[in-house]
Amino acid sequence: MIRFDHVTKRYSSNVGLEDVSIDIEKGEFVFLVGPSGAGKSTFIKLIMKEIEADEGSIQVMGQEVVNLSSRKLPQHRRNIGMIFQDFRLLPNKTVFENVAFAMEIVHKSNRQIRKQVPRALSLMGISSKANMFPDELSAGEQQRVAIARAIINKPAVIIADEPTGNLDPATAWEIMTLLEEINRRGTTIVMVTHAKDIVDRMKKRVVTINQGRIVRDDVGAYALRSE
Ligand code: ADP
Ligand code: ADP
Repeated sequence: MIRFDHVTKRYSSNVGLEDVSIDIEKGEFVFLVGPSGAGKSTFIKLIMKEIEADEGSIQVMGQEVVNLSSRKLPQHRRNIGMIFQDFRLLPNKTVFENVAFAMEIVHKSNRQIRKQVPRALSLMGISSKANMFPDELSAGEQQRVAIARAIINKPAVIIADEPTGNLDPATAWEIMTLLEEINRRGTTIVMVTHAKDIVDRMKKRVVTINQGRIVRDDVGAYALRSE
């Protein structure tokens, strides 16, 4: 699903990533951890092709990202659902409109939108919030909207960048339960986090980056047993 082969990314004076090789299979749930400045954002930006690698090959769903034409870039990014720490909802659109907007961008019909958006909101447990605006919602509810928006076009991969960073522990666990359910339905998830308790309890694969290199890659014990 995501394959890095000897990828190096340098900034003017800093190393972003140094000779990183990794394989993330379809259906995996992977935590990406490491101290600030380790290279986690660089890893994500390379996947999205927001920045270019200096060396190596990056494949996402069999497509070589390095060779991706600018014409194909929007489609590439649409295949990846992004979730952020700060939600990034559109403040002047309702919950329904925020999720619908992601479908409008890819030219889905109004009929499709009227059918799919309520389903996604229901799956996230926020049907009753459909006509509210983001600033009328709790942080946890806003993140549920963001997840609904991320999954609405059925991406193969979800990248979650510190999705629980602004949430209290109980709400964080609710969000993790939703992400686990999305993963159980077949979507690959890569989640950047500093939340040690979440990483420890979820028993998923944990990839540790430090100073631009992968220094650890632990397949969760539970994941091994359930294979
Ligand atoms: P993380 O997301 O793990 O905090 P980053 O990928 O943001 O790490 O950063 C990895 C390294 O690359 C750090 O040393 C950081 O300072 C450096 N870096 C990131 N972006 C830039 C940039 N635009 N210009 C220069 N250095 C950068
Ligand atoms: P986070 O770890 O939350 O992703 P960072 O503080 O690492 O945030 O980076 C925030 C932004 O600043 C990113 O877009 C990154 O590329 C950029 N950045 C990080 N380090 C540097 C740097 N040394 N010089 C310039 N830009 C940087």
